[in-house]
Amino acid sequence: MTDAIVVGAGPNGLAAAVTLARQGLSVTVLEAADTIGGGTRSGEAILPGLLHDHCSAVHPMAVGSPFLNDLDLARHGLRWRLPEIDCVHPLDDGTAGVLHRSVEETATALGRDGRRWRQLFAGPSAAYDELAGDIMGPQLRIPRHPLLLARFGLPALLPATALARLFATEQARALFAGVAAHAFQPLHHPLSSSIGLGILTAGHRHGWAVAEGGSRAITDALAALLTELGGTIETGVRVRAAGDLPPARITMYDLAPTAVADILGERLPPRSARAYRSYRYGPGAFKVDFAVEGGVPWAAGAARRAGTVHLGGTLAEVAAGEREIQSGRLPARPFVLVGQQYLADPARSVGDIHPLWTYAHVPNGYTGDATEAITAQIERYAPGFRERVVGTAVCSTADFPVYNPNYVGGDILTGAKTIPQLLLGPRGLANPYRTGLPGHYLCSAATPPGPGAHGMCGYHAARTALAAL
Ligand SMILES: Cc1cc2nc3c(=O)[nH]c(=O)nc-3n(C[C@H](O)[C@H](O)[C@H](O)COP(=O)(O)OP(=O)(O)OC[C@H]3O[C@@H](n4cnc5c(N)ncnc54)[C@H](O)[C@@H]3O)c2cc1C
Repeated sequence: MTDAIVVGAGPNGLAAAVTLARQGLSVTVLEAADTIGGGTRSGEAILPGLLHDHCSAVHPMAVGSPFLNDLDLARHGLRWRLPEIDCVHPLDDGTAGVLHRSVEETATALGRDGRRWRQLFAGPSAAYDELAGDIMGPQLRIPRHPLLLARFGLPALLPATALARLFATEQARALFAGVAAHAFQPLHHPLSSSIGLGILTAGHRHGWAVAEGGSRAITDALAALLTELGGTIETGVRVRAAGDLPPARITMYDLAPTAVADILGERLPPRSARAYRSYRYGPGAFKVDFAVEGGVPWAAGAARRAGTVHLGGTLAEVAAGEREIQSGRLPARPFVLVGQQYLADPARSVGDIHPLWTYAHVPNGYTGDATEAITAQIERYAPGFRERVVGTAVCSTADFPVYNPNYVGGDILTGAKTIPQLLLGPRGLANPYRTGLPGHYLCSAATPPGPGAHGMCGYHAARTALAAL
């Protein structure tokens, strides 16, 4: 009998497996797909040699992850690469909000909003490495750095629209709104600033890095370490019911809570079953990868040097669009995230043809085709873009849950970031990693600290399991 079974080889499943194996446990990971990695897979999609990230692309939270940084994954090939500019949010008048790695450079570029930007980010980003242990874990516990956490946490209570309005210029407001929109929540809701503040603070400390050779390098490195520690991974094994699981002292699920309720069925205590079955999913993503000859002809010069570009116009337009997708409608001009990872990692391109990563925010379960809406948003800020496109590959909202069952209705965050789910995870006040069934633990991005390829959910879940053992 193996000591531990982990269902799902995403970054959190592998993080849990590595954490258990480092304590001497025998670990087997069962992965439904033919390749490991979950939301960190990369590969060809349009032209031979052109490398696309199929899911996650940009990793300010992973590069600052206390768990990953404790593993020396460079030994297994993980190398971070940084773009010249982290993120640009262009506006229709040709200007843009520009996010540099340095707080000071960003503040200078933001002109009269520079002082406010400094107030918000200079202290927390300088102290990020101490703060990370507190913000990248369960929120209901005694913080190790209460004063630092309070300084970071107080602005995080605000709705993103309220916090953005502390800035005077459209550029600063839009820049903040675009990052806050990563939470897929209405920007006028309380706490809707928190995820944006977390990403910006981590980014100002560590940069909006990409993994050399694609995001898959993160989980390839974790898998190599796991193998070195004696663990095994079986791909092409989809667990559908408790009877599919080999006996083990610990079983960890890198899955959506509803999937765990299906697998464990009657074995799950009624309270957990109710919580998992009523777990809420958020809006969906509609992804289009482009092959672009000569890159994107952005009107705003800074966008030509940026790893990430946010397209959604002013604060008011981004906020209205995010509200609309919650009501089940696709805005005419949805919020679009664009990744130009090849600028930091040029080996992803083939000659002068470059891989462009994009997705739009759409309603959960959206059945339409958002390809034209995404193309039009890029064309809006980069006239002439269409003529440069030599190929596309689409992953629709309906395709996402087929690709990875964790993305219910196209929700790539594995759950809506509502206040209770954001702070507590899927089981209310109970420990977010325990399922309520002894020996069985949830370790996916549905648990705190939530989405990203940082592995912290898997790490905390495994620590909970080890403590119980
Ligand atoms: C389009 C997209 C863009 C993103 N962009 C970013 C980004 O730029 N930066 C960032 O930090 N994050 C991003 N994310 C989010 C990030 O990828 C996820 O939060 C992260 O991958 C979650 O890790 P996980 O281990 O919890 O789950 P996953 O990565 O979803 O892994 C779960 C694994 O479990 C497997 N599985 C599912 N069901 C079963 C079953 N029944 N039996 C066996 N195996 C099963 C799946 O195949 C998968 O391999 C993005 C995600 C997507 C989809």
